[in-house]
Amino acid sequence: MRARPHHLIDIISQYGAGVQFRPHPCGHAVHLVAEQVITDPETTVEFVVDADDICEPCIHLVDGRCDDVLSQLDPPGDRKRSHSKQDYNDDLDRRLLAFLGMDEGQAMPFREYLRIIREHLEGIEAVCTHPGEDPSRRRANLMRGLAKLEA
Ligand code: SF4
Repeated sequence: MRARPHHLIDIISQYGAGVQFRPHPCGHAVHLVAEQVITDPETTVEFVVDADDICEPCIHLVDGRCDDVLSQLDPPGDRKRSHSKQDYNDDLDRRLLAFLGMDEGQAMPFREYLRIIREHLEGIEAVCTHPGEDPSRRRANLMRGLAKLEA
């Protein structure tokens, strides 16, 4: 499985929050990837800073790049300067890999990724919280998700 590191952290946090993973109107594969890693933590994951297995069936993946935008990063009242989600994701995943002491292209079982996240919990919410999210809630959900997956 190819995965952006933050996509898996999103899944762990959503699992901790009790989210039911279902097909999304955009067609992306969050629900399938979530089911795979939750039911088989030994799944080998290659960590990428690029479109991944979640993006593959998404309507926003065009010529290998995400064409979606993050309007929540726009200055108030200015919808013209929408930020590229691809650029946002690439920057986030590079910072996350550096924070976790990992390299782009590194592969390991999902279970090992859980261990690395747990070893780097101090301050992780400052790196992985998305715009508009509450960092303390993000951290709490991530910790709940880790606990459920490690049980
Ligand atoms: S990053 Fe873009 S292409 Fe990938 S799942 Fe999200 S919206 Fe779709």
